Amino acid sequence: MQEFDPQVLNEEPIPSPEEFSKRAHVRSLAEYREMYDHALRRPDEFWGEQAKMLSWFEPAKRVLTWDSPHAKWFEGGKLNVSFNCLDRHLEKNANKPALMWEAEDGATLQLTYAELHARVCKFANVLTSLGVKAGDCVAIYMPMIPELPIAMLGCARVGAMHSVVFGGFSATALADRIADAKSKILITADGGFRRGKIVPLKETSDAALKNCPTIEKAIVVKRTGEKIGWQEGRDLWWHELEEKASKDCPATPFDSEQPLYILYTSGTTGKPKGVLHTSAGYLLHCMWSTRLIFDLRDDDIYWCTADIGWVTGHSYIVYGPLANGASIVMYEGAPDQPRKDRFWELIERYKVTIFYSSATAVRAFMAWGADWINSHDLSSLRVLGTVGEPINPAAWKWYYEVIGKNRCPIVDTWWQTETGGIMISPLPGATPTKPGSATLPLPGIVARVVNLSGEPVPPGETGYLTIQKPWPGMLRTIYGDDDRFQRDYWSRIPGVYFTGDAAQCDKDGYIWVLGRVDDVIKVAGHRLSSMEIESALVSHVAVAEAAVVARPDEIKGEAIVCFVTLRSGTAPSKELRSALIDHVGATIGTIARPADVRFAEGLPKTRSGKIMRRLLRELAQKGGLPGALTGDTTTLEDLSVIERLAKAKGLDEE
Ligand code: ATP
Ligand code: MG
Repeated sequence: MQEFDPQVLNEEPIPSPEEFSKRAHVRSLAEYREMYDHALRRPDEFWGEQAKMLSWFEPAKRVLTWDSPHAKWFEGGKLNVSFNCLDRHLEKNANKPALMWEAEDGATLQLTYAELHARVCKFANVLTSLGVKAGDCVAIYMPMIPELPIAMLGCARVGAMHSVVFGGFSATALADRIADAKSKILITADGGFRRGKIVPLKETSDAALKNCPTIEKAIVVKRTGEKIGWQEGRDLWWHELEEKASKDCPATPFDSEQPLYILYTSGTTGKPKGVLHTSAGYLLHCMWSTRLIFDLRDDDIYWCTADIGWVTGHSYIVYGPLANGASIVMYEGAPDQPRKDRFWELIERYKVTIFYSSATAVRAFMAWGADWINSHDLSSLRVLGTVGEPINPAAWKWYYEVIGKNRCPIVDTWWQTETGGIMISPLPGATPTKPGSATLPLPGIVARVVNLSGEPVPPGETGYLTIQKPWPGMLRTIYGDDDRFQRDYWSRIPGVYFTGDAAQCDKDGYIWVLGRVDDVIKVAGHRLSSMEIESALVSHVAVAEAAVVARPDEIKGEAIVCFVTLRSGTAPSKELRSALIDHVGATIGTIARPADVRFAEGLPKTRSGKIMRRLLRELAQKGGLPGALTGDTTTLEDLSVIERLAKAKGLDEE
């Protein structure tokens, strides 16, 4: 069997293509280091200078007020986030496409900056007419349609917070989030389309609203035309409201720290938290990082495939790209609808230049095979991005070769809902990349891998990833639970921000994020990261995706259990199982030899596509049925995956 070169980790760094570097915003590692040092020595001067890229009604009086762990950025400044994303582009770019939307069924809609501005102004007036005031919270539960960013920007325009709840969530999850944020208004749709089927958003909303006394009105977008329930007095059609509204809506100035939104984390590690982001610092972080990391230029066609229900969609579909005046592709549906080449067909047709997707998506594309890709012209692409989970080196190389044709730099971007924007990432014209490493922190971001006493660990040793200094996009608190904010993030290692991720730093200062701290496995006194073993499995030609967890073992402390999905065209067998066990042993060492490999059709993932190892851990430890799982499963994408996995036999049961 032909295998991927397991030596990828030891390969030389891949330099940025020369042609790319020549015209990049940041052209060399030396230039990056100079910026980094400047930001480290004089952070106020550095961020004060960057803040000039925003349009201010009144400039800030101070850059940062830091009363650990509470930050205020750009105090005294006044701005309007939607003005920054729209109005200020009108002078030069009124007719530039802002949003190029494509429905799952192929229908399209294009909005120029002028058109998007007009629709946002109208919707802001709608919100005001319904009594929404600055500081109120508006819940949004919508499919990926243009009305979603319009609703968010409308909220921002009138100083209301939005709380976007991913459209795949259940009525209970929606009701919980509405109650937690005390939302007054819900914006939804009669339904959405996913893989050709209708997602009954209004029906789910109706079920949720039975338990949501704070909601006064529900605004409903007509998307599917399906028959839906209707509560007179509460429910209102979006199009009727928008039609009546004036498009005149001057942007009101708000304080820099005006709350912009609440967003719940994806729930990979436990109960989701309502992360609060505010205006100026957050917007600056998004705008600045979009420009640097994607090397954004005026003529780029930018596509981020995330759902706006997640932070990636907030920061890198809506706020970052629009603040930069970019042209954005937004796609409503699934990557395999109608066929598994939908993404490549979109890239070809829109001539996408920047493509930002997730590690989990890359592994899916890899499993589907290159035939879907090779019939499409992807020559417009110039930068590829990934986020969400560590990307296994083999998947990275596949992305680089098969999608990027060895000419597009890959930006592996590490960040969290809490950080607001990207924190660790290569700059595509400057940073030599190492497959599997998010490389170096951005200027102004002081990331360090430390032990529990806060001391840096030597290169090659696993420690805790921390952020040592405040940054503009940082969360301000957990909404309604400042104690939890202090406890979860600022007290594990006193005085610094605890990310919850395990990492290593190599001799070049490159950071290798290994996954959650809780996912580190201890075998006979050795600490192994699940990611390391998963990467070894994914480097085998038969494997598409793997999740590795520990179960208690009397002799070794913990034993390794692997759940593996295979690439299309490969069937499970006892021989393959032994081959995979040997392969891991040969790649990492005998210590890492799995005790068990279980074949699975799918892995349990959050609705944002992240593998939920904590559920697999329960499964590996207890055997048992899904009903026996005690962990929170509300953010699980597909409960039946767990049922099927529970039935899949392990070695000891055969
Ligand atoms: P919860 O906090 O509720 O468990 P979550 O952490 O999955 O949810 P997000 O904020 O969406 O929710 O995810 C951030 C996490 O995703 C990071 O802490 C990290 O574990 C992982 N991650 C994101 N990008 C990368 C990357 N480029 N490399 C490695 N890990 C990444
Ligand atoms: Mg998290």
